[in-house]
Amino acid sequence: TATLINGNALSKIVRADVAARAATLAQQGCRPGLAVILVGDNPASAVYVRNKVKACEEHGLHSSCDRYPANFSEAELLARIEMLNRDPAIHGILVQLPLPAHINSHKVIEAIAAAKDVDGFHVANAGALLTGQPRFRPCTPYGVMIMLQAAKIPLSGAEAVVIGRSNIVGKPMALLLLEAGATVTLCHSKTRDLAAHTRTADIVIAAAGQRNLLTADMVKPGATVIDVGMNRDEAGKLCGDVDFEQVKEVAGHITPVPGGVGPMTITMLLVNTVEAAEQALAAVERATEPLARAWGVIG
Ligand code: NAD
Repeated sequence: TATLINGNALSKIVRADVAARAATLAQQGCRPGLAVILVGDNPASAVYVRNKVKACEEHGLHSSCDRYPANFSEAELLARIEMLNRDPAIHGILVQLPLPAHINSHKVIEAIAAAKDVDGFHVANAGALLTGQPRFRPCTPYGVMIMLQAAKIPLSGAEAVVIGRSNIVGKPMALLLLEAGATVTLCHSKTRDLAAHTRTADIVIAAAGQRNLLTADMVKPGATVIDVGMNRDEAGKLCGDVDFEQVKEVAGHITPVPGGVGPMTITMLLVNTVEAAEQALAAVERATEPLARAWGVIG
């Protein structure tokens, strides 16, 4: 049976480093701060937001959380983001998606200062990733890359199949694998023969949001299977896109749901927020250092 890639255990290691970096920043008077905005009453979104805020609190990051009703206007939301863009205590801004239909989510994401876009969804950050100079990597695919590295899965020259082409998971996942040297196939709902692609892959990343989409007959023996999906079964239990019980008998490595990609996604959000704070502090230092030098305050 496959070796489990444990997202909880790996998260613990990475989060300890996040907490140490946050503490160092706090000592320098720059406690990393994340602002989370939730519009509407999507129950899954409410859970994600709560978990993100809790993770901040547990690792020495400051966080604020705005909850607005479903009829909150786009203009009000843009005005709030503008305030947060200028708030020096906030280094990361996250607008929980999906937004209600009357709000243009592209417009909202573009309103976030690129330097505070810790989700990595702003066109400037998406473009930076596309052109091979990533700044903020989108948290879910970033977490998957760390899991692959931790499990020592060879990426250079590997055949990788990504199922799902969203801006949040599938597309950036494909780009990160490409950056790491994999040969990447990006499959989606219009793909004619999904199994024909997955069957020859060394690595399969399932991010379609379809329960039991990836079955054992679709997986090459020894392949690495990463399950990004978050679905509910008939009993309301959390499950992924992979038929875990069967696929684990064929795969070489596999991630569970829960306890796989989910915790790593939040961990990488903390990493990006700490990084944003470090960059903000460095920018302040760069701006003031010449003055301090000119005035003879520093040697
Ligand atoms: P999405 O709905 O935006 O995109 C789904 C993609 O899957 C689409 O590109 C679609 O073409 C493709 N797809 C759907 N059915 C398919 C099929 N039968 N065969 C092939 N492709 C198919 O979703 P998303 O935001 O990319 O999220 C995907 C899944 O990952 C969801 O279950 C979501 O809940 C989960 N997710 C998990 C995390 C995490 O932290 N674990 C983070 C983000 C999303």
